[in-house]
Amino acid sequence: MVDNGNHLILSANKNFLELCKIIKSDNSLVYHGTNFQFFDYKEKKFWSLDLKKFKFPFGIFNKRQRIPNSKISDYFSFIKILLVNKQHKVGQIISKKNGLYTSFWEPFTVGVLNTKCEDASAFLLKNVLMQTFFKGPNFSGIYQPKNSWDQSLIKPAEKFISQKDINIDFNNILKSITIESDKITELIFKKGFRKLNDDDLVIFAMPPSNVNKILPFLDLPKDYNPIINIHFKWDTKNLKNKNKIIGMLNSHSHWVFVKDGYFSVTISAANELFKFREKLIYEIWKEISKLFSLDNKKCPKYKIIIEKKATYNQTPKNHKLVKNIENIPKNLKIIGDWTQYNFPSTIESSIISGKKLCEQLV
Ligand SMILES: Cc1cc2nc3c(=O)[nH]c(=O)nc-3n(C[C@H](O)[C@H](O)[C@H](O)COP(=O)(O)OP(=O)(O)OC[C@H]3O[C@@H](n4cnc5c(N)ncnc54)[C@H](O)[C@@H]3O)c2cc1C
Repeated sequence: MVDNGNHLILSANKNFLELCKIIKSDNSLVYHGTNFQFFDYKEKKFWSLDLKKFKFPFGIFNKRQRIPNSKISDYFSFIKILLVNKQHKVGQIISKKNGLYTSFWEPFTVGVLNTKCEDASAFLLKNVLMQTFFKGPNFSGIYQPKNSWDQSLIKPAEKFISQKDINIDFNNILKSITIESDKITELIFKKGFRKLNDDDLVIFAMPPSNVNKILPFLDLPKDYNPIINIHFKWDTKNLKNKNKIIGMLNSHSHWVFVKDGYFSVTISAANELFKFREKLIYEIWKEISKLFSLDNKKCPKYKIIIEKKATYNQTPKNHKLVKNIENIPKNLKIIGDWTQYNFPSTIESSIISGKKLCEQLV
């Protein structure tokens, strides 16, 4: 089974790591460390940033440690981002002329917020930086599953839940609800319905677009950003480059993950690109074959997965909307990644939202 996306977990995501311990899947994760390798297609060069060696802020005075083509003054952008307010967009704070724009701010913003710099909330980005990069290398390393998310998260979580005698009713979506006297009294599913008791609690754990179908009076984000993943079948055993994760700059592809038997390429905030599906695949393959010096070999078998609504467009305007959810029925709680509004929509945020609710209920 291949995943729909190459979900990265940072070592700062302590709730994710705690959950994996609870569901006994922590041994199925692999730690890739803090050394991030990049390939810049414009410069035709590899370079890497090892956060263990790069001692911020003192490292910026050493040219050899600095990100290629960056000047000391470019690093003032880290101070600027600390001073942002909730209305600021990343693109307003960091100029495209800044020597770190293409090599750091753009890939970091698009990777973390799945939103283009010109739209992305600088406040959300600042909050991530404060929890990761600014805390040091121990909070900025990468975890991924050894095999797949199915094996590291989905199956172990299902097993854990079933051991608690809870049934999951798959493939049966909630279509609507009945509200009486400010309380949900009935859940109407695709298959069947359920009348509720007076002391029942309803928890929605679905994306804002689907919450909005059921509660149309809520003012929630209407714009979403896609993430594209293309998995190319390839014998990856004898590649010269041994890095498993490589960031790509000045290219269509953003990240390539070298897996057992395939390359997996991720493109975030791919709003324009996903319309050019066929053309895109061949362009991406050209980038991969160049990166791994595959001598322009013919495009192999591939599988493309487009998540059209991977996350909501994480702009200041939408951040304000998800923050101000009011007037929901008294016996309803809403959780999910997007409800942790001071952080981006990620697995960690989703877990925190569930954990906070459990803490409220016990
Ligand atoms: C391609 C891709 C790459 C990503 N990369 C990363 C990454 O690198 N790191 C990271 O931390 N996060 C990443 N994310 C985001 C991460 O996947 C989400 O933040 C996380 O899955 C959100 O979990 P959730 O449970 O809150 O919501 P979801 O995973 O969206 O789950 C909501 C569930 O509700 C169900 N549902 C919806 N409507 C109804 C209904 N009416 N009735 C019943 N059920 C319903 C859906 O079927 C779904 O199972 C990525 C997402 C995508 C798509």
